[in-house]
Amino acid sequence: METTLILLKPDTIERSLIGQVIARLEAKGLKITGLKMMQLDDAIIEEHYDFLMDKPFFPNIKKYMTRTPIVAIAAKGANAIATVRMLTGATNPVEALPGSIRGDLALSIDANIIHASDTSENAEIELNRFFKGTDIFTYNKLTDEVL
Ligand code: ATP
Ligand code: MG
Repeated sequence: METTLILLKPDTIERSLIGQVIARLEAKGLKITGLKMMQLDDAIIEEHYDFLMDKPFFPNIKKYMTRTPIVAIAAKGANAIATVRMLTGATNPVEALPGSIRGDLALSIDANIIHASDTSENAEIELNRFFKGTDIFTYNKLTDEVL
């Protein structure tokens, strides 16, 4: 079983889409093992998106990601990392397929609703960035036997 890190970005909160996005994760069969609202600051964005620091749009990312709280989610399931990336869709909503979260709910790359870890190495780093160990829970669901 894998666990992946998901962030519901400020536009998700601002547009009242938290429930819609979480419903898609749950409907897919993923188990929510961590969930919290957080106000991010520049320092955590500089760490989380350090590979984009030299890009001209980096100041905009910082402004966007810190203007409203986000919701951090740990989601567990078989192949959770690749599965959530597939549910998320392409980075640019113009290219994201209908049926994906960005394809259905976002218009612009400047506000693309969701972040999802892209590799198991990054998932581990990102889960530690947003959750303390005690904020991740272990519990049984009735569907555990079939999913
Ligand atoms: P995320 O890491 O947020 O899940 P991603 O993995 O699909 O997105 P990345 O290449 O990691 O895409 O880019 C991180 C974020 O930086 C994007 O989600 C988007 O908000 C922003 N971004 C990336 N490329 C651009 C661009 N060309 N113009 C504006 N913003 C961009
Ligand atoms: Mg990324």
